[in-house]
Amino acid sequence: RAKSQGRNNYQFYTETMTRDIIERVNIENELRHAISSNELSLHYQPQIDLTSGQVIGVEALLRWHNEKLGRVPPDRFIAIAEDAGLMLTIGEWVLNQAGKQARDWLDRDIPFGRIAVNIAGPQITKMNLVEQVSAMLHHCRLPATCLSLEVTETFIMQNRDSSVKQLYLLHEMGVELAIDDFGTGYSSLSYLKKLPISKLKIDKSFIRDMPEDSDDIAISNTIIALANSLGLDVIAEGVETREQAQLLLQAGCQQAQGFLYSRPLTVSQLEQYFSASPQQSIAR
Ligand code: C2E
Ligand code: MG
Ligand code: MG
Ligand code: MG
Repeated sequence: RAKSQGRNNYQFYTETMTRDIIERVNIENELRHAISSNELSLHYQPQIDLTSGQVIGVEALLRWHNEKLGRVPPDRFIAIAEDAGLMLTIGEWVLNQAGKQARDWLDRDIPFGRIAVNIAGPQITKMNLVEQVSAMLHHCRLPATCLSLEVTETFIMQNRDSSVKQLYLLHEMGVELAIDDFGTGYSSLSYLKKLPISKLKIDKSFIRDMPEDSDDIAISNTIIALANSLGLDVIAEGVETREQAQLLLQAGCQQAQGFLYSRPLTVSQLEQYFSASPQQSIAR
């Protein structure tokens, strides 16, 4: 009985593996022409200051609609794009697109605060991100203080000299650097004092089961205390309820992002969001 079960398991594994490989190949092939076919777009999600209620930033989130595959969520295609070396050109497209959008909003006095762009590891390890960011800021005539870059902990922990140097240069330019999905990666925290990071983003997995899960409350409280004692900003992602926002604020977390405030929005939806709840314009 154990033997036949073993065979079933084996069959199950090969079937799902085959399906997975086919899906990966499809995604990779379709992604190759996603930019030239105009299949990519950005949605934007507001980031809120909890005490004032003001929008302090908007995070650019990549969306892909392919004719054959339909809508493919970033969690499904970004890792594949990274492995296939496609995240370099896609990442550059995202950065430039976000920059053009920020320019347009500045021209029209739409107070978006900072525009936050997610950066994939290979964008720093395999190319000159500093050059790309400088070119974009110059081309879009944007102050560096308009831009925030979200990098992941796993990437940070690779801690290569050339990447660290790039982070310092970006910081000196005035670009804000945030660690995304904080708490899900490595446990060594020594990089927090070595690197020019100014913000931690608490991963949404620690927010989701609040307030029922007391372990999650303990973890997020610890991250908040850590950020506050190191003089870093801290933002919680995935905030869906008022209760969660209240707990976070009580613990000393000033910023939040999540469905409670807004889902990621298209450009025109975001502009409606701003006109429905006018913000005090942030002078620059
Ligand atoms: P992330 O950077 O941590 O982005 C937050 C994710 O949480 C987004 O998923 C957002 O839609 C989702 N989210 C926001 N508020 C809530 C909430 O209240 N509840 C729940 N359940 N989810 C919420 P999305 O847009 O599917 O993106 C997933 C991930 O894909 C991102 O996680 C990021 O790691 C990656 N990604 C997205 N766009 C880019 C990009 O342009 N470049 C790179 N390198 N990665 C990107
Ligand atoms: Mg992010
Ligand atoms: Mg995140
Ligand atoms: Mg995440």
